[in-house]
Amino acid sequence: MQVRRDVRLADLTTLAVGGPIERLVEVTDPAELVAAVREADEAGRPMLLLGGGSNVVAPDDGWPGDVVAVRTRGIERTGGRLVVQAGEPWADVVAYAVDNGLAGVEALSGIPGSTGATPVQNVGAYGQEVAQTITAVRVYDRDEKSERTLTPAECGFAYRDSRLKHEPSRFVVLDVTFELDESVLSRPVGYAELARTLGVEIGDTAPLADVRRAVIELRRGKGMVLDPADPDSRSAGSFFTNPIVPTERAVEGCPSWPADDGFTKLSAAWLVQSAGFGRGTRDGHVGTSSRHSLALTTEPGATATELLAFAARIVAAVEEQFGVTLVPEPTAVTL
Ligand SMILES: Cc1cc2nc3c(=O)[nH]c(=O)nc-3n(C[C@H](O)[C@H](O)[C@H](O)COP(=O)(O)OP(=O)(O)OC[C@H]3O[C@@H](n4cnc5c(N)ncnc54)[C@H](O)[C@@H]3O)c2cc1C
Repeated sequence: MQVRRDVRLADLTTLAVGGPIERLVEVTDPAELVAAVREADEAGRPMLLLGGGSNVVAPDDGWPGDVVAVRTRGIERTGGRLVVQAGEPWADVVAYAVDNGLAGVEALSGIPGSTGATPVQNVGAYGQEVAQTITAVRVYDRDEKSERTLTPAECGFAYRDSRLKHEPSRFVVLDVTFELDESVLSRPVGYAELARTLGVEIGDTAPLADVRRAVIELRRGKGMVLDPADPDSRSAGSFFTNPIVPTERAVEGCPSWPADDGFTKLSAAWLVQSAGFGRGTRDGHVGTSSRHSLALTTEPGATATELLAFAARIVAAVEEQFGVTLVPEPTAVTL
């Protein structure tokens, strides 16, 4: 366990905002992770967990306590089952699955961050989400002060949501179990743009490696692959989730997808763009990505306050013009 006092949240987050950290505690094995969390809790120090920092808006005032950086590693395979340590980079897990003929996560290629954070917002893209393959999440429960295993039902997975997201000060993810298909072909392709790129129909399969390559290519074209040389990737990915509204309140002209009975999922990107925040709209050091109106990006010198004020302007404009309330996807960290 390594403790540092010279680090800012901006150094640990992909939006690169956020002030000084009182104590940065880097842990490399699960016992250390539990010990670090217990120690902070027992000392009454505020504790923030960070994996890759790719889905947080960190406060300008910094963190007056412990930031526990989860750097645990390891993938254990038994047949189609993978047990993955929380700190393992998610993109490496997908690469491992594809290279080893395991299907079920190939459409989630190129998503930054740690595996332990994937169940938190039920990470998803291009027709797949981790809830389709997660069979268990081992956690340290800070309320019960003990380790336990959550079933998928106990995780309460929903679209970009879970119980872990709603109870952020309770569960520390230690490892995640995925049940994948032993197959060199993908699961049925469920996303029109991906099917087109692969030259297949929706519902067809394709070689795993082809799906991975196509997804990364599509993501790169939208600035959705982390790359220090690409200013459009200085983001937290999509800043808003696609709003789910009663079908009778669907917005005319807005692309949409069927959701649960009687509900429709609207394109947040279309709403943001149509409310006057097209690609490349800038305001001070923040703005929308030049290639994707849903990704908010920062420039050197940006602050979290500036970013959140810009996001609030978008929310207000969409609300006023379309009567739809956008919900931010990243966690805005507060004490
Ligand atoms: C360029 C780009 C593209 C993206 N594309 C997508 C996408 O296509 N689909 C998608 O769903 N997301 C996407 N994201 C968002 C992000 O990558 C994911 O949400 C990712 O899972 C976050 O992982 P992380 O380790 O960086 O989490 P962090 O940002 O470190 O943390 C996110 C939240 O999870 C909590 N957390 C972290 N680790 C743990 C743990 N071990 N136990 C409990 N809580 C924990 C944190 O406290 C915080 O509340 C994108 C982000 C970027 C920058």
